[in-house]
Amino acid sequence: MDVMRTRIVATLGPASTDTKIMKAMAENGVRIFRLNFSHASADKFIPVVQMIRQVEDELGIPLTIMGDLCGPKIRIGEVEGSPRTIEKSCLVELGLTGRVPSPEGCVAIGVDLPQVLHGLDVGMPVTLSDGMLQFSVEKVLEKDRRFLLRAHNSGILTSNKGITFPGKSHPLPALTDKDKVDLHEGLAIGIDAFAISFVQTRQDVEDAKEEIKRHGLWAPVVAKIERENAVRNIESILEAADAVMVARGDLGLECPLAEVPVIQKRIIRACRHAQKACIVATQMMLSMVNNPVPTRAEATDVAGAVMDGADCVMLSEETAVGRYPVEATAYIREIAKNAEEYFLERVQGPYAPKKEKNLVKYMAYSACILAETAESAALVAHTTSGATARLLSSRRPAHPIYALTTSKPVQRYLNYFWGVRPRLADMNVENHLDRAQSFVQKSSLFKPGENVIITSGQPTPGQPRIHTNELKVYYK
Ligand code: PGA
Ligand code: MN
Repeated sequence: MDVMRTRIVATLGPASTDTKIMKAMAENGVRIFRLNFSHASADKFIPVVQMIRQVEDELGIPLTIMGDLCGPKIRIGEVEGSPRTIEKSCLVELGLTGRVPSPEGCVAIGVDLPQVLHGLDVGMPVTLSDGMLQFSVEKVLEKDRRFLLRAHNSGILTSNKGITFPGKSHPLPALTDKDKVDLHEGLAIGIDAFAISFVQTRQDVEDAKEEIKRHGLWAPVVAKIERENAVRNIESILEAADAVMVARGDLGLECPLAEVPVIQKRIIRACRHAQKACIVATQMMLSMVNNPVPTRAEATDVAGAVMDGADCVMLSEETAVGRYPVEATAYIREIAKNAEEYFLERVQGPYAPKKEKNLVKYMAYSACILAETAESAALVAHTTSGATARLLSSRRPAHPIYALTTSKPVQRYLNYFWGVRPRLADMNVENHLDRAQSFVQKSSLFKPGENVIITSGQPTPGQPRIHTNELKVYYK
């Protein structure tokens, strides 16, 4: 039996929008395809969605399509005489686009959004061009509107580059007007899940959920953690979000880069405790854009994310524009597989719940312990909302978790979770436990004489709310 537990997310782009390539990537363990709305709109993705569904049918495994919405990425406008050379310690004037620069600054840069300048003060850092140009505020020329920045290094400044105000929070909702359009159009073309960029608070996630509901559908929301206040608010964001992404690209600009490895570990841990999936993203194997093998550091980074306990590892440029999209998925799979084995060896059995009396966690934990004791072939969970499968996954059992659900959106959501293999339940069978047993009977995955541990939640009259209330050792 194939034992891959870590899920792979692959970004599609010109290098990989091809049924053969996508199929090879899915065979290497990709379960989630990411469509980046920074580069295209929904109508361009219609054929891509069709191709993914075709691959899904051919392989008979569920594939999840995640639309990644741009969010309020802040950029500067046109720079006069671009590209301009910035010398270390020279002054640059920052204000709103379109205003007349004062003579003090040597170069003028502008932003469209007045909110980002609010509260900017002397000494605060500002970076440009993916952190390549670093400044700090030297002088406030006009409160909340115009500033002089001092350059801390030399470099080239060009128009429309990203600008970051590390550590500063802005009164900007994560969901922009463009994102709302992309979200509705994305839902209409069959996108299953949405990643929301630059989330700052729980409200940002709730806004996205509200917008999806307005469309009359349910789709998981992945909160991209790439702002410092999102890191601080992780617990409340996790209450609302269905999954999170450690979006290390922007996170490494917004937070001190030296803190990112530890932030990654803390977020992964918080996710597992909240039973929400965690994706580790960006520059995982960036050198594979050009090379057929990753660097030693990249291989170690992927393994590190898996050993930290990530549910998913993500490829970006590697599969979107790289020369070796399929090879990148093969490498990430092999590295993740080795790291998983070590992870399991080190944790020595499923995570026991903390001492609190949390019945559902103990049910999940007990199922995992039983699977070890009975040397079961798998855990099989009937899960209507996906919660039971998420609980099982959060214990990090060595056994595969077959999650039977009646809902296609839930099935595709469960693709994000460590070790979970989501399958559609047979609706012709009435009882949840019977559904699980009939799945095991019919499936060629299990040999006669093998056993599985079944968890199910059969509503009973005296039970205040529906949750897992049955565990069964079932012999085929
Ligand atoms: P992006 O998000 O590639 O959409 O910016 C990921 C990241 O910031 O790491
Ligand atoms: Mn980002």
